Amino acid sequence: MAAKSTLPLQRLVRLENFGHSIDRPAYLYRPTHASQINDLFTLAEKTGSQIALRGAGRSYGDAALAGGGIVLDFQRMNRILDWNPETGIITVEPGVTIEQLWRYIIEDGWWSPVMPGTMFPTIGGCLGANIHGKNNWRQGTLGEHVISFTALLPNGEEKVCTPTRNKDLFYGIISGMGLLGVFTSITLQMKKIYSGDLEVDAWAEPNLERMLRATDEHKEEDYIVGWVDTTVGGRALGRGQMHSARYLHEGEDPQPVRTMRPMHQDLPDTIMGLVPKSMVWRFLKLGINNPGAWAGNTAKYLMNQTIGNHKRYRQSLVAFTFLLDYVPNWEYSYGRQGLIQYQSFLPFETAHDTYQEILQRSQKRGLPSYLGVMKRHRPDQFLFSHAVDGFSLALDFKVRRREHFVQLMDDLNQIVLAGNGRFYFAKDSTLTPDVVQQYLGDGTVRKFKRLKASADPAHILQSDLYRRCFGGL
Ligand SMILES: Cc1cc2nc3c(=O)[nH]c(=O)nc-3n(C[C@H](O)[C@H](O)[C@H](O)COP(=O)(O)OP(=O)(O)OC[C@H]3O[C@@H](n4cnc5c(N)ncnc54)[C@H](O)[C@@H]3O)c2cc1C
Repeated sequence: MAAKSTLPLQRLVRLENFGHSIDRPAYLYRPTHASQINDLFTLAEKTGSQIALRGAGRSYGDAALAGGGIVLDFQRMNRILDWNPETGIITVEPGVTIEQLWRYIIEDGWWSPVMPGTMFPTIGGCLGANIHGKNNWRQGTLGEHVISFTALLPNGEEKVCTPTRNKDLFYGIISGMGLLGVFTSITLQMKKIYSGDLEVDAWAEPNLERMLRATDEHKEEDYIVGWVDTTVGGRALGRGQMHSARYLHEGEDPQPVRTMRPMHQDLPDTIMGLVPKSMVWRFLKLGINNPGAWAGNTAKYLMNQTIGNHKRYRQSLVAFTFLLDYVPNWEYSYGRQGLIQYQSFLPFETAHDTYQEILQRSQKRGLPSYLGVMKRHRPDQFLFSHAVDGFSLALDFKVRRREHFVQLMDDLNQIVLAGNGRFYFAKDSTLTPDVVQQYLGDGTVRKFKRLKASADPAHILQSDLYRRCFGGL
């Protein structure tokens, strides 16, 4: 405790998770150059402090928080270091955001092969978690498109890693949640596109079984995602709307130069040309309760089932990919205690029964999720892989009645484990060491400890997620 008093008080701030359900004090440092990072490792050692790494802080839980410790925020290390529009190979600093990336490359006819559902995260943060998109079955995770990266380890070494060189660190630092080393530059392969638009198909499915079947049957499309109505029970449990999308082939878009301009991609500032989008979360707040969520989900489902069924349309890449960014600050509509997301990954065989139990259990407890997103996944070889050959269902919950809520999450964790499921640290705020040990398995936990002991022998890299999930392991 005494050691921490040597960190300058003027650096002390309160930092939050994306869902505004957790806030923690931390000494904040925002380096501009990789050369400053070693000094910060030394500072941490001298003061007996720990360091958590932070990109844009868009993880839903405590992955980028360090209660009482140092937080290194990389948003100022945001330079594009090299771009080759012929090959689509780009080298960036870790603080470059997904938005910066697409704005930079799209006019040359390129797009990132894997994108999260929002454009605000950084590339370093996305690789720390090893994100997936609505095309995980087709394209894998973002880490699968990394050609090489340079990382600084707390032991003072600088390592260049590729899938074959320093392989364990390559597969460990990507997905390693900032616990093994710091990305300082990253080289990625982008995907060639011939239009800034996608061809989208939208249709309704009447229950969970049909949603899962449609997600599987369309897994070979460029994108497939299901929006699940999480508030309705009985025979309609798990009903929802599917969106599949495909890239346009060369020659299909009569005006590719126009559609690949950032101006074509920009999301509108107002809803229906009237309401400024910055105000919308305040209206949404009125509906973020059980009856409001039920009414909203029901209206959406009925519209999709009638006028919107099997509607095909062209939509810009940005509008399709970053649908959640349409309403700025929507997360504030979940109120004072914020929201958490609960995303579980289930193998093909157990997905239906497990998701049925999860949805029923949360509805019975009076704590239903208000938004559900379903995706199809394939396994990958990264250290903290979340993916399985199966599905994921991401559920957004409003935090309230905290003790009941914690009890529900504990129950859901056991239900997922019973279905041989996995979890995702980027979304997590409820896992405990015993659950982590079970889903990762002894081999992975041992391998992580071995890598940590060599890369970070003084255990400097410690986020709140690390302490919560690995404490005592
Ligand atoms: C609305 C919304 C939609 C989302 N949709 C998706 C989705 O579709 N798919 C998906 O997979 N995820 C999704 N996410 C989750 C999000 O993409 C991840 O949490 C991502 O990691 C956030 O990036 P960030 O820059 O905010 O990183 P942070 O949240 O700040 O950090 C994430 C992790 O990366 C580590 N890290 C940060 N910088 C570095 C670095 N330089 N070197 C090493 N480690 C580092 C941190 O320590 C932390 O463990 C979504 C999040 C939101 C809010």
